[in-house]
Amino acid sequence: MAVEIKEKNQVTTLPLMEDFYTIQGEGFYQGSAAYFIRLGGCDVGCVWCDVKESWDVHPSVSVDTMMERAKTSGTEIVVVTGGEPAMHDLTALTQTLNANGMRTHIETSGVYPLTGQWDWVCFSPKKFKEPHPSVFGQADELKVIVYNKSDFAWAEEFAAVVRPDCQLYLQPEWSKEKEMVPLIIDYVKANPQWQVSLQVHKYMNIP
Ligand code: SF4
Repeated sequence: MAVEIKEKNQVTTLPLMEDFYTIQGEGFYQGSAAYFIRLGGCDVGCVWCDVKESWDVHPSVSVDTMMERAKTSGTEIVVVTGGEPAMHDLTALTQTLNANGMRTHIETSGVYPLTGQWDWVCFSPKKFKEPHPSVFGQADELKVIVYNKSDFAWAEEFAAVVRPDCQLYLQPEWSKEKEMVPLIIDYVKANPQWQVSLQVHKYMNIP
């Protein structure tokens, strides 16, 4: 039975673009089964964004409905992504997921202070909008998308401000993959505190 813990005035519905059970294709949890909740809305405006549909208006769905659907998947890992999920107050969503035995992971560009309780924070800053400094110390994983050569120096600026135990990933932007992968390989060999992240779900043709 679902556990109810919500308090008065909490945001209990959120714009949902899609939710689905799949394999996490990127970063520290790459290869793990995970339930994805993709919330609508983003004002970051990355030119190479591969989920521009998330910018549109999406129907409001209750956090209980999202939790119930995630729970039936059988995985413990729920990844809240977008869009930019931190645009929304995620307190009730994370409380509901945690209270029902699920781990809460977020993928954010860090442009808004985080709300809610997170078991894992993937911070993926974007050049198109400055991140909020409160997110630096909360990041468990820093994932920088490499679109051109200057992104390595830019990635180091964030590596200098996250916690020392934060995992560092360089991931090629999908359309520049062939060009950027050799550069990332050389960079990681020279700077082994970084790791390569590839979007393996795209190779497996899964969402
Ligand atoms: S932050 Fe993410 S969803 Fe928003 S524009 Fe950039 S890539 Fe797209």
